[in-house]
Amino acid sequence: MVSPGTRVHHGSHEARPPRVVITGSGFAGFHAAKALARRTRGAIEIVVVSPTNYFLYLPLLPEVAGGILEPRRIAVALSDALPACVRHAPGEVDDIDLEAHEIGWLDPEGVGHRMSYDRLILAAGSVHKVMPIPGINQYAVGFRGVPEALYLRDHLVRQIDLAAMCDDPAEREARCTFVVVGAGYTGTEVAAQCQLFTRALAASRGLNPDDMRWVLVSRGEVLAGLNEHLARSADAVLRHRGVEVHTDTTMEEAGDAEVLLSTGERIPTRTLLWCVGVRADPLIENLDIELDSGRVVVHETLQVPGQTDLYACGDVAAVPDPSRPGERTPMTAQHAVRQGALAGRNVAASLGHGSLRPYRHRDLGFVVDLGGFKAAAAPLHLPLTGLPAKIVARSYHLGAMPGNRLRTAVDWTLEALQPRQSAQLGLVRSPAIPLDTASPEVPQHHLGFPHVAGGRQAPDAAATWSRE
Ligand SMILES: Cc1cc2nc3c(=O)[nH]c(=O)nc-3n(C[C@H](O)[C@H](O)[C@H](O)COP(=O)(O)OP(=O)(O)OC[C@H]3O[C@@H](n4cnc5c(N)ncnc54)[C@H](O)[C@@H]3O)c2cc1C
Repeated sequence: MVSPGTRVHHGSHEARPPRVVITGSGFAGFHAAKALARRTRGAIEIVVVSPTNYFLYLPLLPEVAGGILEPRRIAVALSDALPACVRHAPGEVDDIDLEAHEIGWLDPEGVGHRMSYDRLILAAGSVHKVMPIPGINQYAVGFRGVPEALYLRDHLVRQIDLAAMCDDPAEREARCTFVVVGAGYTGTEVAAQCQLFTRALAASRGLNPDDMRWVLVSRGEVLAGLNEHLARSADAVLRHRGVEVHTDTTMEEAGDAEVLLSTGERIPTRTLLWCVGVRADPLIENLDIELDSGRVVVHETLQVPGQTDLYACGDVAAVPDPSRPGERTPMTAQHAVRQGALAGRNVAASLGHGSLRPYRHRDLGFVVDLGGFKAAAAPLHLPLTGLPAKIVARSYHLGAMPGNRLRTAVDWTLEALQPRQSAQLGLVRSPAIPLDTASPEVPQHHLGFPHVAGGRQAPDAAATWSRE
């Protein structure tokens, strides 16, 4: 049923060209739109529904928090990078009617819209996975978007500024202690980049850089499950720099001024980052389709079983992994890019442009940038560390970004020549995405991390403010 005020965008199927709707403009959605447009050359209507009008290059987000890159470098405008035949509907899909072939979406001004489709590509990505740990919703902050990166950057500067003016040694120590939970891509890179940032800040404020305490807590090894060379190199670089790496350890409780680890250690801190795993976006939870560990089950052609007009790709999809029979592909950007492109190709084929293909993937290796001159890379499984790895990592990122390459390269050059900028603008006063996106409660705010409740919201949607 269409509620009052809802705007309906359809037109009969006879009157318009076939319409393909893509939910999400991340790695999968962006590349689906691009491949589809290339193959159909204006013969169909392509609409990307996404809350942002940009593609976010997530692997470089830790460099935004670490004061190296400006956020617009990694946010590539869809209108600049996609063909003009792809339209962007600004908003968030909040309803999918598979029977009626119709989606509902809410625009940023709160107006509901409905739109019919001939093919739908689910590419809504993933959200934080939150464990039932006391205090986590209230005291931890996640790391998945530009507002969170900007918020963290400001927060780190603020902690150092306040520490520099603090006469109480215990409080100063807590402000200079930073706890990251989770040592996957996100936690490892955030700890590596931001530790260097806080050391530079400390030096410029008359504090001892060696007093900046970074603690990385992980149940498994650093970068567990990724390439072994990468994992070992990253672990060694972090430890060498003085980051306390606690593997085989979990966080048991978060309080308003400390966290408790499974080892029994209590760590006084004002900064707790939750980087433990992700789960598929809740958008797909109530659809009448099969899920595997919360992800949409798809055939190797990325079609959803029993739904000929529905495709899924990227983090949201449980795609059979051709290199590991019986397993699903991991949630990585590499897979999302290739699956997105294949979804676009196969949807085009289903509309008479080309032929269907199964998902195949050749592992090109991984890169991890650890800040400074450090990185670890395994291009085509060739293990590299130090400067060669750094050059490979940065070249890989520049090649993989769909735009803003020159600007990004300029920021990197400036980083090598000049100190990082440490002005605290305070524009983002709360992380955009509360850790528990499904939580109906309005959490308290502490540790300098005020929260908003009720799913994704604009940065200042609930302008609570912390004691800072
Ligand atoms: C900080 C960080 C660093 C990472 N580093 C690496 C790395 O170095 N290498 C690597 O391989 N992987 C990395 N990853 C993982 C990688 O980014 C993901 O696997 C990849 O982004 C998945 O692509 P996706 O398109 O499925 O989802 P996303 O890129 O997350 O895109 C999802 C899109 O869907 C939109 N969306 C969500 N809900 C809705 C809705 N209801 N309606 C409409 N649109 C919606 C979102 O706004 C977004 O545009 C990193 C992840 C993070 C968070």
